[in-house]
Amino acid sequence: MTPVRQTIKFDKKLLDKDAIKVVHNLIKAGYDAYLVGGCIRDLLLGYEPKDFDIATNATPEQVHKTFKRSRIIGRRFRLVHIMFSARKFIEVATFRAGKVKTSNSGVVVRDNFYGSLEEDVFRRDFTVNGLYYDLVNSQVIDYVGGLDDLKAAEINMIGNPKERFEEDPVRMIRAVRFKVKLSAQFELELSKSISSNAHLLANIPPARLYEEVIKLFHNENSIEVFNELLNFGLLKHLFSQTKESLFINAALENTSKRIKSGNSVTPAFIFAVFLWSAFNLRVVVTDKKNKPRLEIMINAAEFVIKNQTQQVMMPRWLSTRVKDIWLMQYQLENCNPKKERDLISNQRFRMAYDFLVLRSQSIDLELKNKAEYWTALQN
Ligand code: ATP
Ligand code: MG
Repeated sequence: MTPVRQTIKFDKKLLDKDAIKVVHNLIKAGYDAYLVGGCIRDLLLGYEPKDFDIATNATPEQVHKTFKRSRIIGRRFRLVHIMFSARKFIEVATFRAGKVKTSNSGVVVRDNFYGSLEEDVFRRDFTVNGLYYDLVNSQVIDYVGGLDDLKAAEINMIGNPKERFEEDPVRMIRAVRFKVKLSAQFELELSKSISSNAHLLANIPPARLYEEVIKLFHNENSIEVFNELLNFGLLKHLFSQTKESLFINAALENTSKRIKSGNSVTPAFIFAVFLWSAFNLRVVVTDKKNKPRLEIMINAAEFVIKNQTQQVMMPRWLSTRVKDIWLMQYQLENCNPKKERDLISNQRFRMAYDFLVLRSQSIDLELKNKAEYWTALQN
């Protein structure tokens, strides 16, 4: 198969210097190496890529030998991380070939045959993610029509959607994420396969879904992502206790705004918002006269969080923060004036206060005065 090769010179400022170094050093060592995947997609769209991935015909051992500060990592597939600082590394993957082997439950068990670039392309998920960049000749290499699909804003699966979703159900939520990110369309077959295979997400380990969930909602279009997940029947396999609400809309809109203006966001806020109504429901049904309020709330929080972690993992630090946000709502609503200063100086005050404000603007309008009271108190 001959690929389309299109000469495109990207703005040097948008290319990661370290990624370029890695490609050049691999080539110097006698291997082939290309930039690949999301970074090429984003560059072509004029976005600044989040990360730069590299694909090569060198084996992980050969890559590791070429770079002093590198290590082989491997869960599903062995990759090499080349370290540039304590926090920054470039990921290099060896071309792969062959079918992904999955167990009966749909978990990938074997995925490690090395291959050529041409074979590697067909293991990638969507055509818009299947583009390679040849830095030496400044050419995009396209085997799958990704360049055309990017222009037409279409998300197309490489291969048969049903088979590829069965092979790896996480691709369904990736599809939704890219659809929204690119303001793109799905072709009909792909759209139908998502609706009919949504239940397969139940087979994915919660830890893997945690990473994907963060990518879903930590971006500027999280409301659209939420609505698409709902439409395709995917949301209930990620957050079975979550229903659409004005509060969720307000919170996602707020997250998008914060990201647009460069403010920090934390997944704790998203999880606290998504699970808030389930938490309240649990408080109501377990509320017995003789039990202390705090105990009821802690038990309810633990119950809801435990349910959630069956689907999407919540690391300990995250669930602790979610609990803090919830328990502080009660304190913010019923604070003894003598304790107000203590509460404001609490490390978690800001998050809990933001949460209260959003409630007061969406589902708990009667809290407006309370929210304003706390706003004034901080000034
Ligand atoms: P972003 O970085 O914006 O999340 P991305 O496309 O770079 O998007 P990554 O998870 O970084 O996503 O993956 C890099 C590339 O690896 C993808 O572009 C795609 O070619 C391939 N890929 C990732 N996940 C899968 C998957 N589940 N199935 C097939 N190919 C995948
Ligand atoms: Mg990426």
